[in-house]
Amino acid sequence: ANTAAERLLGSPEGGLKGKRLTDFVAKDLSNVTPGSGIAIDQITQLHASPALIRMMAVNTEDQADRGETALLLQDVTHERERERERGQFLYHITHELRTPLTNIRAYAETLSEGVLKDPDTLRECYNVIVGETQRLSRLVEDILSLAQMEAGAARLKMDDVNTARLVRQVIEDMQAQADEKGLELLLTMPPKVPTIRGDKDRLVVVLTNIVGNAIKYTPSGGRVEVSCGQEASRLQIKVSDTGLGIAADERDKVFDKFYRSSDEHVAVLPGTGLGLALSLEIVRTHGGSITVSSELGKGSTFTV
Ligand code: ADP
Repeated sequence: ANTAAERLLGSPEGGLKGKRLTDFVAKDLSNVTPGSGIAIDQITQLHASPALIRMMAVNTEDQADRGETALLLQDVTHERERERERGQFLYHITHELRTPLTNIRAYAETLSEGVLKDPDTLRECYNVIVGETQRLSRLVEDILSLAQMEAGAARLKMDDVNTARLVRQVIEDMQAQADEKGLELLLTMPPKVPTIRGDKDRLVVVLTNIVGNAIKYTPSGGRVEVSCGQEASRLQIKVSDTGLGIAADERDKVFDKFYRSSDEHVAVLPGTGLGLALSLEIVRTHGGSITVSSELGKGSTFTV
C-alpha cells in the first residue's frame, strides 16, 4: 500500500498492513474472483469520513496465480458532488424554461385560431408573448454568462479599470429605472477612487445586478445609495437600499443559483435568481468578495 492509499483511508504510515478492507470501507470485496482484467469496480463510503471512494480491483492472471489482487482507490467525493450539482442545475433550467414556453405556446395558439377580435384582448396576447420572450432571453443570457464564468478565470479580459468612471456610468444608466419607480438614486464618491485590474464588462454586470436589485426590491418613495472608496488596500463598493430587506435565514441563500425569496413581494417581481450567483462568481474570480447585511422590511446593504 502506498502513502496515498494510507492518506485516503486515514491510516498512519505502514498502518494498512494486515488490515482488512472492511475495516475502512463498507463494501466487502472478498468475492473478487481470480482471473484477468477488472474484476470489480465499485463506489463506497469510508467508515471514518463522508468521503466517497471508487475501488477497482485489478486482477491479472499473474497475480491470480500468486493469490494477489491489486486494488486501486480513488477519491471521487468532489466528482460526485459536481455531478449532483449539474443535475440540479439542469433540473432548474428546464423547470424555468417550461413556464414561459408554455405561456408563449398557449397565447400563440389562441392567436392563430383567429377567433379573438377584441383589440384589447389581442394586445394583451401579444404583450404576454413579448414579455415571456424577454424573460427567456434574460434567463438564457444569465445561464450563459454563469457557465462562461464557471468555465474558468482564463476568460477574464483584464485591464486597468477606472473605477470612478465605471461606477458613475452604471449609475447614470440606471437613473431612468430609478426615476420610473419614484426612487432616489444617490452616489457618494471621494475625490480619489483606486483604479483596479479587472474585466470592465463583467464588473459592469456585477454593479448593474446589485444596483438593479436594490431598485427592483425597493418600493417607490425609497432610496438607493451607492458609495465607493478604498478600504485598506482594496476597492469597496457599497449599495444600500431602503427596500424589502432579506430575512436572516435567507441571507446566505441569495447567492445560490436560482434562489429567489419566498416572500410574496419578491415573487411578483421578475427575476431569474441567477444575478447574485453570477455577480459573486465574477467578484470571486477577481479575488474579491460580496457580503450582505439586511433587516427585513428596512433595507439591505451589499458590499463588494
Ligand atoms: P433575481 O433578482 O433575478 O431574483 P438575484 O440572484 O439577483 O435574482 O437575487 C436573488 C434573491 O435575493 C432575490 O430573488 C431576492 O429575494 C433577494 N435579493 C437580492 N437583492 C435584494 C435586495 N436589494 N433587497 C431584497 N432582496 C434582495
